[in-house]
Amino acid sequence: MIHHLNCGSMMKLDATYDGPPPLNAVCHCLLVETERDGLVLIETGLGTDDVQRPQDSLAPEWVELAQPELRPAETALRQIEQLGYTASDVRHIALTHLDVDHCGGLPDFPEARVHVMEAELQAALKEAPSRRYRPAHWAHGPRWETYPPDGTGDEWAGFAGVRQLTGVQADLRLVPLGGHSAGHAGITVRDGEQWLLHAGDAYFYHQEIAVDAAHSHPLLDVVQLSAQVDESLRIANQARLREAATGGAGEERIRVLNAHDPWTYRSFTGA
Ligand SMILES: [Zn+2]
Repeated sequence: MIHHLNCGSMMKLDATYDGPPPLNAVCHCLLVETERDGLVLIETGLGTDDVQRPQDSLAPEWVELAQPELRPAETALRQIEQLGYTASDVRHIALTHLDVDHCGGLPDFPEARVHVMEAELQAALKEAPSRRYRPAHWAHGPRWETYPPDGTGDEWAGFAGVRQLTGVQADLRLVPLGGHSAGHAGITVRDGEQWLLHAGDAYFYHQEIAVDAAHSHPLLDVVQLSAQVDESLRIANQARLREAATGGAGEERIRVLNAHDPWTYRSFTGA
């Protein structure tokens, strides 16, 4: 069972074409109930400290840019409690990268093992405090599980260097998707007969990976362009995601999603 959670509403967006209603950008997280690995949380969105004391853990420039609504009820911890679980039921957290709106919930789950690319962790430790990386999110000393960039990962659906998460038996893999940050990755999880591929911030708007008339969103593109570390790699990975969304993995369909597109989030939740 996979729950789609919005762990942080942000700025209001209009679609670039007629039809979809205006919606607030989201922090799209996945909560995976597994048979043998407890709960696995893919992305955390903003955490309880972020929404209660943003001045302590978030950079003012980021707050101004993203316009987060900072609602306690939207944090992953509160939503997980609403489902009848406790923080310690979350045994693993997989992160696409360590920007505030992706790892802000880490302090709410101090016992979880945290899976992230080694290059991302090193960049965050080196650069913080910055607009994107905030030390408050790892001051509790997470149990990091890191993955080197040039290891012996597998080929999967046109992606290279794909790794099964260490110590996890369920089908959950880290998919290197560089460009947005130093060690950005997607996370793929089996969902019955199909795969979900959470692409994080590898793209910001569903039309970017559309087959016809692909284009970015003018407002989200400001964030995308100001944050990127490698533009050509980012664009190459968007092309690969477009192929994965249409071609699948062998016989199996892949549904690609990202962190902030509210229309994609709505396509999964209806809300
Ligand atoms: Zn983001």
